[in-house]
Amino acid sequence: MVNKNNLNSSNIQIFVDLDGVVANWEKRAIEVLGMDFESTKNILKTGVDLEDICEVHPWEILDKKHNEFWNELELFPWAYQMIEKLCEFGEVSFLSSGGNIYRRPEGVGNAGLGKTMWVSDKFKNYQIPLILTKHKYFCAGPNSILIDDTAKKIDEFTRYGGHGFLFPHPYKILDGDLKFNDVLGELETKIMLIDK
Ligand SMILES: [Mg+2]
Repeated sequence: MVNKNNLNSSNIQIFVDLDGVVANWEKRAIEVLGMDFESTKNILKTGVDLEDICEVHPWEILDKKHNEFWNELELFPWAYQMIEKLCEFGEVSFLSSGGNIYRRPEGVGNAGLGKTMWVSDKFKNYQIPLILTKHKYFCAGPNSILIDDTAKKIDEFTRYGGHGFLFPHPYKILDGDLKFNDVLGELETKIMLIDK
């Protein structure tokens, strides 16, 4: 077992979103919701949110799977390559939303357990910490960067003094519209520009 976080002495903190960046949340959600995969995926690639094209609120259905929903998420093929590269630049942590504790507290419990078990299983060789909060901007600072596929999260994080990298829609990479190595190259450049 290698703790990749020990391999550098940089003080840059790199926060990595789970869903849409390393975990294929959308594929599993589309399956569970019983939607047509190809047509739904193509709509989502344009930047539309799943909640906006679902006839019911998706969490009313997804929550019924409890924490099992999270256990079944596929890892994107670039996940380990990305994490290994990021560990060369700073301390890496996953930063993911556990949901809204005031609107769906029972869902937060499921997400917390499911995401914890998922990261523990998939990243046991890396020992990457997991921080769960809906309010990612609490981790923002001059030496921190958030990698996230949601523009709102990036906007909040940068407004609170952090740096941000908007990860493209993952199906743009999976479908070959974008090359992962180009995305990673852009991300590396962004991190190198952070003033230590
Ligand atoms: Mg996300």
